[in-house]
Amino acid sequence: MADAVTIEDVFAARQRVAPFAGRTPLVESAALSKRAGHPVYLKKDHLLPTGSFKLRGATNAILSLSEGQRRRGVGAASTGNHGRALAHAASVAGARAVICMSSLVPANKVEAVKSLGAEARIVGRSQDDAQAEIDRLVDKGGLIDIPPFDHPEVIAGQGTLGLEIIEAVPELEAVLVPLSGGGLISGVALAVKAHSPATRIIGISMERGAAMAASLDAGKPVLVEEVETLADSLGGGIGLDNRYTFAMTKALVDDVILLTEREIAEGIAYGYEAERDVLEGAGAVGIAALISGRFAPRGPTALVLSGKNIDSTVHGAIIARTHAAFKKGA
Ligand SMILES: *Cc1c(COP(=O)(O)O)cnc(C)c1O
Repeated sequence: MADAVTIEDVFAARQRVAPFAGRTPLVESAALSKRAGHPVYLKKDHLLPTGSFKLRGATNAILSLSEGQRRRGVGAASTGNHGRALAHAASVAGARAVICMSSLVPANKVEAVKSLGAEARIVGRSQDDAQAEIDRLVDKGGLIDIPPFDHPEVIAGQGTLGLEIIEAVPELEAVLVPLSGGGLISGVALAVKAHSPATRIIGISMERGAAMAASLDAGKPVLVEEVETLADSLGGGIGLDNRYTFAMTKALVDDVILLTEREIAEGIAYGYEAERDVLEGAGAVGIAALISGRFAPRGPTALVLSGKNIDSTVHGAIIARTHAAFKKGA
């Protein structure tokens, strides 16, 4: 299954996706380069419409459907950013969209999906509960499920981000990629290693509830308890019946680093203070891995800034260092 998605699929995805989710800035951070002793580049995918890289995969998946399929409508169980991206991509393509989310998803993300014209359904307390509802709608109403990560066209779409990075800076030693279900890292690793096999791909997750890291350790997809984290877009399982991303991550990812809540908070704060980037927890884990010293650069390094959809009250408390993550013992 590791070769179910190929570099040709990523090139095809770029043709489809380019008009809607075009090239994002890749800029060297003077502050981080100085700190690291090597050039550090920030891939600013949080600047895409709907505020995350997920627009790439969602757009590619919808544009890969036939006219008739688009009329039936698309659906997803999403922790927020995929749902939002799918809603936006569906409205651009004139398709109906139904988004199911667990009750752990922050209110701002639910509202965002609704305001993009999609139907939002809140079901259960986990990604798996939300997925069960989508499965029911697929069986009952002929809805087309576009999952957040374990789908060939979604992976190929996320891979376009990797192409943009490695084409701009071919001599990278490492690329740090936020890791949850593994759609992003699978696509990015495929694209980067096709051009530069020696470039290391490092996945970054939170210590609390990192399903892919636990599954890699176990040698097969396993369930983890879903808990609240600042990196809420990295929560959720990888699916016990995972078809693509577990095998691709296992084959293509060189290392996985796990971060504490406090380290993630420091990453968010640094992103704002040094770069004036508003990042959500998941979007800041690359910066966090670097400034915490958990990742030690050996050469030119790129960090994927994956999303910006953070509650403004939480963001403010992090900048002010009054958030719970900064309390003693957190
Ligand atoms: C979905 C998401 C991720 C993780 O992507 P996966 O493909 O699930 O690994 C990282 N950052 C943000 C902001 C996301 O929305």
